[in-house]
Amino acid sequence: GTLTKPWGMARLNELLTRIVHENPLGADAIAKGIENDEFRLFMQPKVRLPGGRITGFEALVRWNHPRLGLQSPINFIPLAEQSGLIEPLTRWILGRAADVLAGWKSEGIDAQVSVNLSTRNLMSLTVADEFAEIVRARGLDCSCFILELTESAAITNLVDALDILVRLRLKQFALSIDDFGTGYSSLAQLQRLPFSELKIDRSFVSACAASAEATNTIRAIVELARRLELDLVAEGVETEAVERTLIGLGITHAQGFRYGRPEPAEVWSPRLRCQVA
Ligand code: C2E
Ligand code: CA
Ligand code: CA
Ligand code: CA
Repeated sequence: GTLTKPWGMARLNELLTRIVHENPLGADAIAKGIENDEFRLFMQPKVRLPGGRITGFEALVRWNHPRLGLQSPINFIPLAEQSGLIEPLTRWILGRAADVLAGWKSEGIDAQVSVNLSTRNLMSLTVADEFAEIVRARGLDCSCFILELTESAAITNLVDALDILVRLRLKQFALSIDDFGTGYSSLAQLQRLPFSELKIDRSFVSACAASAEATNTIRAIVELARRLELDLVAEGVETEAVERTLIGLGITHAQGFRYGRPEPAEVWSPRLRCQVA
């Protein structure tokens, strides 16, 4: 049968190509997914402490895959980054986030939205103009958006990225360092970079009620942020004990399952209307 036939290189290559092309989470599928509007934007609230009033949201992307169903970003963001498709995908995400904000604004609801960027987004000199255009086309100000970059991404490509970060800042986008505490940014770098917010990594936050080491790390970050006049957000708050510890440390903004999971924007509209009223 077929199994005993000799497998020449040409045949192997053909087969390999087919497997790559048919990968349901591959680059071709992502490109098609953008075209076919298969991606979904979920919003997770960011709240003020104490009290829990919603001040904004983080936009978190999912892929409603035609065959596999709702996919986590960890299953497709890395490939989107490698293939360059993160650029059109991020434009789509920012556009959707802006649609949502514009809808709320028409109801008198003010909120900020945080959007995640990859290092790859900071390789194009035109990105600040593109993003500003996307936002202004919806009648919004760039200052309604916070762009999050992970600490490692912000630092590794520092020299090239700095120029782009400054351009984004000049358009009035706020810039945030995500997963702060996991990388190696120095005080000097933080002073030089145009960031206005640090997001304390979930690993320290979730441990802080039980571990003196995590508490001390957060205490040091609070002091650092105060000196550099940076806003602070604690991510991954799940329990009342953690919330209480954070309040004790002087943290005033938090995000986490305790306040809400990432959900489609419509889910949050009633709660926002209540806050306004
Ligand atoms: P991230 O930026 O650190 O986002 C926070 C992640 O933590 C989200 O996972 C969120 O659902 C989860 N999370 C929030 N609160 C809690 C909590 O209280 N407990 C626990 N255990 N988890 C919590 P998600 O949505 O699966 O996103 C994973 C990562 O994928 C994000 O990490 C981000 O790096 C990336 N990502 C998501 N959306 C985008 C996007 O639009 N663009 C880019 N470039 N990356 C994205
Ligand atoms: Ca983030
Ligand atoms: Ca984070
Ligand atoms: Ca994280």
